[in-house]
Parts: sequence; structure tokens; C-alpha cells
Amino acid sequence: MKYISTRNQKNTTTFTQAVIDGLANDGGLYTPETNYQTIDLNKIINMDYISLATYILSTLIDDFSQDEIHECITNAYQSSFDNEDITPLTKCDEGWLLELWHGPTSAFKDMALTLLPHLMKAAYSKQNEDKLISILTATSGDTGKAAINGFSNVANTAITVLYPEVGVSDIQKKQMQTSIGYNVEVIAIKGNFDDCQRIVKQAITNQDILHACKNIKLSSANSINIGRLLPQVVYYFFAYQKLVIRKEITIYDPVNFVVPSGNFGNILAGYIAKQIGLPINKLICASNSNNVLTEFIRTGVYNANRKFIPTISPSMDILVSSNLERLLFMLSDHNDKLINSCMTDLKKKGEYTIPSSILDKLQQTFTAYDCDEDTCKQVIHDTYHNQNILIDPHTAVALGACRQHQQIEKDIPCIILSTASAYKFPQDVYQSITNESIETGFQAMQALHTYTNTPIPHNLSVLESLPNRFNKVIDKQDAIQTIQQHMKELNHVHN
Ligand SMILES: *Cc1c(COP(=O)(O)O)cnc(C)c1O
Repeated sequence: MKYISTRNQKNTTTFTQAVIDGLANDGGLYTPETNYQTIDLNKIINMDYISLATYILSTLIDDFSQDEIHECITNAYQSSFDNEDITPLTKCDEGWLLELWHGPTSAFKDMALTLLPHLMKAAYSKQNEDKLISILTATSGDTGKAAINGFSNVANTAITVLYPEVGVSDIQKKQMQTSIGYNVEVIAIKGNFDDCQRIVKQAITNQDILHACKNIKLSSANSINIGRLLPQVVYYFFAYQKLVIRKEITIYDPVNFVVPSGNFGNILAGYIAKQIGLPINKLICASNSNNVLTEFIRTGVYNANRKFIPTISPSMDILVSSNLERLLFMLSDHNDKLINSCMTDLKKKGEYTIPSSILDKLQQTFTAYDCDEDTCKQVIHDTYHNQNILIDPHTAVALGACRQHQQIEKDIPCIILSTASAYKFPQDVYQSITNESIETGFQAMQALHTYTNTPIPHNLSVLESLPNRFNKVIDKQDAIQTIQQHMKELNHVHN
């Protein structure tokens, strides 16, 4: 199975190389070719999460042995999740919630970022490289801590995280500031997530940095890295399997998935799941007030020229959604000319339009809704008071989208991806439920716990007492230079 750059279909490589590189050298995103082996649904019915993950990833990665994949997966999931199902599926009035936040940092990013370091290490050992892998990562709030957690103290790696100084929740910020590990650096940028992501893409392909740092290999842990995407395919199958086991559906029945989306990585993994045989009817893309994806999926016009709106679901506050590039490449049968022209338009004019034939194809699987702030808060309120289920604002956006969809299509079961613990956003969640504001995130965490009598995830309950280690804040204009300086230091040490 080859991995192909979205900017040049002749630029292909192995999974091993793609995961090490992060971004293709032409600026494209590595995307799996389409001669997939399909998954036999009958085979997966009795598998636990680890066996299922081994089976699914083995069909998508052919340059790792099944044993190697199994070892990576076992190391990633066996002891770092607080639920034996890894991703438990629970009933709600609208359908089912697939809880993706039982990992070490309480957000769905853990699903991929507990595994990525193991995949990278294994890939690297195949290459006999002795350079330091230096991972640069932009975060809108959740990726950063999950990536640090995955790479902290991993030999021959270094991890540098850029996060927007304003916009992330108190708890998310504290998670990053208190990180440990000799190979960790955390920098706040005076800008938003789009600025951080752009800086990372620029730095990874920056010739000055590449020339000055011969002892290091730059890569990324953002979902531009294919190693981030593939682990996310697994839980779509897992949720389906659970519904079959519980006799809620019969094998081969269609289901919908509702996915709270920002960079489009989670939902794109759902599309890959469909390609390899999961009977998905619709992938429902849910956005907050930054509704660029809703508009795009409905009209075929991607227009990032709009005000960036900070919301209470900050991990989805994104205007330039990277993984759409992969979807368009797949939908257009690898039309790299089209991708280049769209991405040039996006860079020059802040917008692009896809041909109607591609839009038709896209709409066969995808549909989209957005949810404003008041609706999001109302959904959190109602879901707690009517169903006794505590959800975070990202999950609420998805549930809001699900309700809109169910006004036009009632019969197909919906699985809603629940992407974070409510305790990562306790101020907004508490306010939504009680109409009372609480001054700090940590006070709100306690209040939410007292009010709902639900457990605070361990990593969050200990957070307040940890010392801050990272307080650096820089202007976005200085970011490339700061990164260059840091990379030179890493390069010097790894000599
Ligand atoms: C990252 C994130 C999202 C958005 O996922 P994408 O893959 O970027 O579309 C949604 N919810 C939470 C809690 C997240 O951390």
C-alpha cells in the first residue's frame, strides 16, 4: 500500500517514510492509495479493542508486520486508558455516544497520540537513522498535551508545541504549562490556531532550518501526519461492532456518525472506515460558529475570509481545515492539479471552489450542520437535566447537529463522537448547567464534581497542584526565528 502526496501523485512513499516525514516535501499530505483490502465485518464481532486495532491497521499498513503493529498498539492502549473498552459506547436519547476521552489527557487526541510515538519509533528503527526526530506541533487546545504526553522522555525524539495564547481553556493551558519531560518545549503564540498551524507547516519545509540542522529530522504530530489519522479509523468499527453485539442493529445495517469537526481529521478517518467496508450512511460534520465546513459541504465554496470567532468549543476554532485536502484528493481520484489550484487559491484569495462533480460525490456521504454558542449551552443544559448525561461543549455541538439531522432523517441510528471530558471545560459546562459563573477553571472543576457527582479524570484532578514549567509567549512574526534557534540547540546537543 502506497501513500501518495496530494500535491503530486507521482510522489509516493511507504507508510514508514510517510509517518517519519509528517508532511510531503512538496507541501502535500500523504494519503492512502485506493486499492484497499476490505474488512470482513463477520471477523470483527468478537474482537476486543486491541485485536480490532491490530486487524484494521494491518490492512492499512503493509510495511509493518502484524506483530510489530500489535506491539505498538498494546503499548499504546493497554494501561493508559481508564475504561476497559478503551472507547465505551453509551446510550442517549439521540442514539449512542462513543466516548473517546478515556485516555491520559481526557480528549480524543489520545486515541492517535498514544500510538503515534510507537509507530514513529518502529518506523525509524527500520530506517537505521540516528538523527533526532524533532516533532513540531500546533494545537487548538487538545493536541498539544496529548502529543507531549506521547513523546515525553521518548529517546531520540523532541517535541515542541505551539498553542494560541488566548482561546484555549484554563485547564488546557495549565495542562501544557505543567508538562514534564527533558525533550519538551511549549510556546504560546500571540495569534490563533490557524497561525500556529501555518507556522508549523512553514518551519517543517524551511530551507534555512533544514540546512542548519543536519542532525535532526523535522516532523509533525498534527493530523497532517498520516500516523495520526489511521488509529482513528479503528473506533468507527468498534462502535459498529458494539451495536451488533448488543443486537441494536444487524450486521451490514447502515449507521450515521456525527463528528464535531475542526481540522477534519476525525471525520476523515470515518471516510476511510467507509472505504474499507464499514456500512456508513452519512458522516455528519458538526461545526461551531466557525462554520466554514458547513458552508463548504453545502455549497462547494470554501471561504476562510471571515472573522475568527473564539467559542466555548475551542478545539474546533479553525478556519483552515487541513485534512479537507486529503478528502478532495480521494474524491477526485487523485487529481493533484485540482488540489494545487485549490490550495493556491486558498493561499492567494482565502477561498476556493470545487467542481460540481466533486461536490456531488462529497454530498453522497457528507452532510453538515453548525451550532451557535447559545444552542451549544442549551444542549449541555438539556442533556444533563433531561438525560443525566454530562457532556463537554464539543460533544454538545455534535449532539446539536444530530438533532437537526434527525428532523429530516429519523430511521438510521446515529453514533455521536464524544471528543472530550466535560472536566476540560468546567467553567462553560458548569455555567451552561446551572446558569452560574465561576471565576477559575479549577474552582469550576470542583463545583461541577459536587453538583453532578461524576468523577474527575485523575490527570485533571491533580493538575492544579503541579508547578508551571513553561511560560514563554512570543509574537507570531518571531515564531520561525524562535523555532530555528530551538532546533539549532537540539541539533547541537544531538551531535
Ligand atoms: C481536535 C478536536 C476536535 C476536532 O477534531 P478534528 O480532527 O480536528 O476535526 C473536536 N473535539 C475535540 C475535543 C478536539 O480536541
